Amino acid sequence: MAPAQRCPLCRQTFFCGRGHVYSRKHRRQLQAALDRLLPQVEAARKAVRSAQVERYVPEHERRCWCLCCGCEVRTHLSHGSLTVLHGGLLEHLASPEHKKATNRFWWENKAEFQMKEKFLISPQEYAQFKKSMVKGLDSYEEKEDEVIKEMAAHIREVEHSRQEVVRSILEVGFPWRSQSISGSARPRRGLFGTWKLERDNQDLICQPGSCFVF
Ligand SMILES: [Zn+2]
Ligand SMILES: [Zn+2]
Repeated sequence: MAPAQRCPLCRQTFFCGRGHVYSRKHRRQLQAALDRLLPQVEAARKAVRSAQVERYVPEHERRCWCLCCGCEVRTHLSHGSLTVLHGGLLEHLASPEHKKATNRFWWENKAEFQMKEKFLISPQEYAQFKKSMVKGLDSYEEKEDEVIKEMAAHIREVEHSRQEVVRSILEVGFPWRSQSISGSARPRRGLFGTWKLERDNQDLICQPGSCFVF
């Protein structure tokens, strides 16, 4: 009798030697495991030509299971406050260790030969990814600069309109008050006096609050 072996895919001990990989249960488990990994590999492959850079969030710690290597792999590649989406998995799929493990896995499990290429990233593809990662980083920085510029413009806009309000109030000279002033022909000192004093000081913009205190 063949010595007992443990199959990591079926999670069971078997005694039928190499014949186990041909068993229906094992074929089913193998297919299911490949089907779980494939969408993640395909998503990563799409990033080869268009690497996306994002601000790091804890969700970027996500990992996936590489059944060829029998280990967890980081999906994304994070450094400091930035994350390159799918960078971790692409790095793994392009590594010589993964290639070696995939060859062994395919051989041991008698997996479909045509499927193997789908789980590998060639050195050329990885080089292309690195180029697109540089582009991704550049455009991320531009985007960040744009946001900073927009914020600065917004702050300037708010400050400007605040000053405009102050200026227009002062230049118009309180139309609702000038009516009462013309009616009585005598300015009320408490109101008009303060405004005049402020204007004489040329200090209106720095102390806009004082204009509303009258
Ligand atoms: Zn099995
Ligand atoms: Zn692997």
